[in-house]
Amino acid sequence: MSERVIALVDQRHPSWALPTPSTPLQLAQLPLDQLQRPLRDLRISVTDRCNFRCSYCMPKEVFDKDYAYLPHSALLSFEEITRTASLFAQRGVQKIRLTGGEPLLRKNLEILIAQLAALRTPEGLPLDLTLTTNGSLLARKAQSLKEAGLQRVTVSLDGLDDAVFRRMNDVDFPVSDVLAGIEAAQAAGMGPIKVNMVVKRGTNDHEIIPMARHFRGTGVVLRFIEYMDVGATNGWRMDEVLPSAQVIERLQAQWPLLALQAAAPGETAERWGYANAQGQHDPALGEIGVISSVTQAFCGDCNRARLSTEGRLYLCLFASQGYDLRPLLREQAASDAHIAATLDAIWRGRSDRYSQRRSELPPEQGSSPARRVEMSYIGG
Ligand code: SAM
Ligand code: SF4
Ligand code: SF4
Repeated sequence: MSERVIALVDQRHPSWALPTPSTPLQLAQLPLDQLQRPLRDLRISVTDRCNFRCSYCMPKEVFDKDYAYLPHSALLSFEEITRTASLFAQRGVQKIRLTGGEPLLRKNLEILIAQLAALRTPEGLPLDLTLTTNGSLLARKAQSLKEAGLQRVTVSLDGLDDAVFRRMNDVDFPVSDVLAGIEAAQAAGMGPIKVNMVVKRGTNDHEIIPMARHFRGTGVVLRFIEYMDVGATNGWRMDEVLPSAQVIERLQAQWPLLALQAAAPGETAERWGYANAQGQHDPALGEIGVISSVTQAFCGDCNRARLSTEGRLYLCLFASQGYDLRPLLREQAASDAHIAATLDAIWRGRSDRYSQRRSELPPEQGSSPARRVEMSYIGG
């Protein structure tokens, strides 16, 4: 008796049909999207799992023991990720950020880091390789990550007060272990280290000044992120967003700050430097950043693409669908030239500008789509 095999298709993450690439690929011309934006920055999610349950990202009620995470066979292998990243580097990407879920939960991540650190742009330059982590495993891993070729790291930390931090990660994780992770990264010679704090009004905004005081003058760049309406599970409300302008006001009431120039085009953070007694920026005191994704849309020069852990390419953090590249890498065994041309065609068709659109709507309509992809799936 013959058995019928029924293919199971995971419809949680629907995807667009891939565009047919125009041939031959115009190698000399890097793609620009519909709004004339280049492709520069690729964020790669290496796992959809996390050991924290930050309420703004993976609320416990949704991401519980019954939540269906992706099976291991669905994840891109390190070889598949590296191949894809190298094709992205050919088509303009200069910066790669590993993220997740919690990227340090992916086994043997150092192997992937070594492979990515060996990639070069067409001009022969190494990529700017970094990683965003909740810091929980960093004390243990900082040295091996550095040895594998990771130069920089961004650590998420939402407060210094242990009770506040334990409540926000919602798994009772102590702040001291994350601080030890940051110190280990510094001791391993990574830098500059960035610390990201998501500010939720009424939850941790009283931690702004203590956090700034703690990191001022240490070489660590603290960045305050507006709480975003990303995903569809965090119950986002505008009144829980503390606008960056108010963060700066609070800081300026303590220490004089000067606006600094953006580090690179398309940079998400607005930079502010601590001033000395003469009113000039004092590099020894360092700088802070604010990321105003809600109150000041920066879609105009957004050059970021996101690759999910199972190989779907998303053109915006607020997208509801991506482009499934995995069949090209696996079943179809497509050539490098074909995949590169497909990436070009996808990027050339891009017109996403979610935050800008939201800011043009009245506040009550300002956040809508029901099926937006979760940040833990495509990474921050
Ligand atoms: N688990 C790692 C971590 O927390 O750093 C990497 C993945 S996490 C999704 C990446 C970044 O997204 C973190 O800095 C996190 O604070 C930020 N994030 C998650 N949900 C957010 C939200 N609703 N608004 C603003 N930032 C958010
Ligand atoms: Fe995990 Fe990072 Fe999301 Fe927090 S923000 S739940 S640490 S993936
Ligand atoms: Fe880029 Fe989308 Fe964010 Fe705009 S909303 S800055 S297009 S990721």
